[in-house]
Amino acid sequence: MAYIALRSDGVAMPWHAAPPRHDLGNALTMSRLEKLCLAKGLKMTGQRRVIARVLSDSTDHPDVEQLHRRAAAIDPRISLATVYRTVRLLEEAAILARHDFGDGRARYEQATAEHHDHLIDLDTRQVIEFRNEDIEKLQREAARALGFELVGHKLELYGVPLRRDDDTPGEDA
Ligand SMILES: [Zn+2]
Repeated sequence: MAYIALRSDGVAMPWHAAPPRHDLGNALTMSRLEKLCLAKGLKMTGQRRVIARVLSDSTDHPDVEQLHRRAAAIDPRISLATVYRTVRLLEEAAILARHDFGDGRARYEQATAEHHDHLIDLDTRQVIEFRNEDIEKLQREAARALGFELVGHKLELYGVPLRRDDDTPGEDA
């Protein structure tokens, strides 16, 4: 089970640290994720750079197969196994957050400093990001009542779109 880092200071990225010289590449074209990888001391091979770029450019929550398709479109030599290994590595380095949105597939996104929760549309499997301050506050209070300071949480809502003139659930199931 992966947890999203709530605070950017929890990541503590040494932006001032110089990346390893041998893999510096062109800093101007480096993706955000690649910079993070270098800052965490991960070796960036050509294929990892492509995968990092694909992840950086993804605004959705792709699974490994989707990531592989996107990466292989850039470099056809990238195998599914390489994508698996790379996302596992980035997840362990807390660069990627892994989600399970109830369909048994691991989905990935950048572990951003800005916390958000997810609502999954069960009709289309679309994932909608949201943040609700009342929920955030309630969770902190619930943890505090149990004697804890909240340092992280995962919240997934599952729903179907409201239908205007149809109150019979499961009719089109
Ligand atoms: Zn998200």
